[in-house]
Amino acid sequence: MQEKISRIFKEKFGEPAGNIYASAGRINLIGEHTDYNGGFVFPGAIDKVIMAEIRPNDTDTVRVYSIDIEEYVEFGLREEDAPSQSWARYIFGICREIIKRGGTVRGFDTVFAGNVPLGAGLSSSAALESCFAFALNDLFNDNKIDKFELVLIGQATEHNYCGVNCGIMDQFASVFGKKDNLMRLDCRSREYEYFPFHPKGYKLVLVDSRVKHELADSPYNKRRESCERVARALGVETLRDADMDMLLNVKDKISDEDFNRAKFVIEEKERVLAVCDALLRDDYDTVGEKMYETHQGLSKDYEVSCEELDYLNDVARECGVTGSRIMGGGFGGCTINLVKDDLYDHFIKEATDRFEAKYGHKPQIYDVIISDGARRIS
Ligand code: ADP
Ligand code: MG
Repeated sequence: MQEKISRIFKEKFGEPAGNIYASAGRINLIGEHTDYNGGFVFPGAIDKVIMAEIRPNDTDTVRVYSIDIEEYVEFGLREEDAPSQSWARYIFGICREIIKRGGTVRGFDTVFAGNVPLGAGLSSSAALESCFAFALNDLFNDNKIDKFELVLIGQATEHNYCGVNCGIMDQFASVFGKKDNLMRLDCRSREYEYFPFHPKGYKLVLVDSRVKHELADSPYNKRRESCERVARALGVETLRDADMDMLLNVKDKISDEDFNRAKFVIEEKERVLAVCDALLRDDYDTVGEKMYETHQGLSKDYEVSCEELDYLNDVARECGVTGSRIMGGGFGGCTINLVKDDLYDHFIKEATDRFEAKYGHKPQIYDVIISDGARRIS
């Protein structure tokens, strides 16, 4: 990818070469629907990246070529210069959010490409944002912008320029990712801690169902409302501050549905902590067990699974896969699977063949390796 980017950069913008930067997509091993409850998530950056060659051009114009979209866009750096192409708005947003915070951005020429699958739940948009946020900090700001601020710049770009009201996990993972490490991020305090993740003898593989069930009423908002109602009944700010004893105490005051939603969130918080402990012991069996428990909770208590994802989870279990669960908000998308090396071929074949026989299309398979996040390559 780097050679192709450099070749095309030279064709479009001539010599000299610019700097090369990259940032990664992400997975989340465990900790689902916990972010808006003040809980923990547990992401890591992966070996799929957005990479860009960038060179300041001594003007106030940004000139961008996207290799994957095969489109060239130019824009200025004032608010009214926003480009209409959605992919370019990610880059424009990063420039604007840096400027709004008092940082410097001047014109530059850039060519970029990526291999993070778009819209598959691996956060290609966060990879794109983090790549440019990191690069513009390096090129124009002597790296004076704090790394956590780069995360917030990416998030604000999604909110203000791309119409996506996201949390901070994706940009956090992309900016802070470190090879062979997952990160436990406390969504309330924003504190984070690295945990070693080098599952020797295992692979991490995503099985993308390639279905997305669009439901009439927003199930996401309904889940949030349930959590907020239970938190109010408990007299706590978020379910982060609740435990199962407290929940059982208010059981008759809340609906069964709200009880089940809150039960999932409370148990999920405990599971993240248990997985961290297990990783410190290199105990991947426990990690896998917790992943299955999360799937069960998402499916039965939080009710955000769907037939296709439950089927993939069943196939994984039948094949003896160590851990498997829905990754992401639910109602479609991927499962994330922790699979022993010697089971891998068998599992992929079973999952692919059986899923296709039942649903008429093949799932997409993505192997991932936990890798570094935002960085300068040359
Ligand atoms: P994801 O879950 O992958 O983040 P999003 O819909 O949030 O999905 O972001 C995908 C968008 O990010 C694409 O529609 C495109 O605008 C931009 N994008 C991601 N990867 C690339 C790429 N390689 N080249 C150009 N634009 C990209
Ligand atoms: Mg995205």
